[in-house]
Amino acid sequence: MKLMFLGPPGAGKGTQARIIAEKLGIAHISTGDMLREQVKNGTALGLKAKEYMDAGQYVPDGVIIDMVKERVNKPDAREGFILDGFPRTAAQAETLDGFASLDAVINIGVPDEMLIDRICGRRVCTDCGATYHESMLHDKEKCPVCSGSMYVRDDDKEETVRTRINVYKEKTQPLIDYYAKKGILHEIDGTGTIDEIADKVMAAIEALK
Ligand code: AMP
Repeated sequence: MKLMFLGPPGAGKGTQARIIAEKLGIAHISTGDMLREQVKNGTALGLKAKEYMDAGQYVPDGVIIDMVKERVNKPDAREGFILDGFPRTAAQAETLDGFASLDAVINIGVPDEMLIDRICGRRVCTDCGATYHESMLHDKEKCPVCSGSMYVRDDDKEETVRTRINVYKEKTQPLIDYYAKKGILHEIDGTGTIDEIADKVMAAIEALK
């Protein structure tokens, strides 16, 4: 099964993509995670991408498209995948149509005012990549799953978050129509607990079978 999760920054698409990919036994392909890995390793691509990411802007299409094309051909994606954070622009969506056919697009909707609060309290595990709101953590420095150290993403500062939401509205929101016209869009209410949302996403996916 080939799925794509769509939603503004803070909608919880990364968290949901991780959970659902594990339940379905398919690959979780997050372009944001792949870019952060490049930044962490100090590669040329990572250094270039960091400038855009820290400013809340999108990394150029060419770089992203090459990265995803290579990733979907890896063995763990043979049974299917969830694309998380890709495509984000019309050019990316059109290119994706040329090399993969999506079964469904899950659009996770959350009101704007909740997005800022969710992102500004976000903590990510350096080791396993799990994401939490700081209010859920007993120890803000330590991952409750793997004990790795937690960090705040460089692009999770309030000013950058506002830019990211605006860039999303301008460049990515039009993809909602693009996939609605193809008849593969499924709208999910992204408010509520992580488990409640995961149940709704799973129900939408089960209905496809
Ligand atoms: P995310 O982890 O999905 O929120 O992505 C973090 C940042 O990585 C974004 O704000 C962009 O700067 C960059 N990024 C991730 N995916 C893409 C993409 N498909 N196109 C362009 N930039 C991306």
